Amino acid sequence: MKCCICGEQIEEVFSNNALPIKDGRCCNTCNDVYVIPARIAELEIINDEKKAMIKELKNKIGVNDAVAKLALSKNNWDVETAYEWLKGKAF
Ligand SMILES: [Zn+2]
Repeated sequence: MKCCICGEQIEEVFSNNALPIKDGRCCNTCNDVYVIPARIAELEIINDEKKAMIKELKNKIGVNDAVAKLALSKNNWDVETAYEWLKGKAF
């Protein structure tokens, strides 16, 4: 099977649940780099300013809530930087 995030060929027994990034199975690398940090980002308390940024980012690039939160939690990026990071990724 293929990792639903990066497309790498993986064996199902070594795959991981990719939620909340994607509804599918992903490789260990994507699990470590995206899925686990996204789950941690989901626990973050979101203030109104951050909510507005998440909405703006979602409108700009069409990702789901968890992906937008993950991108905006990384180094406290602004929408533009988060957008640049997300561009070209298969979320
Ligand atoms: Zn992957």
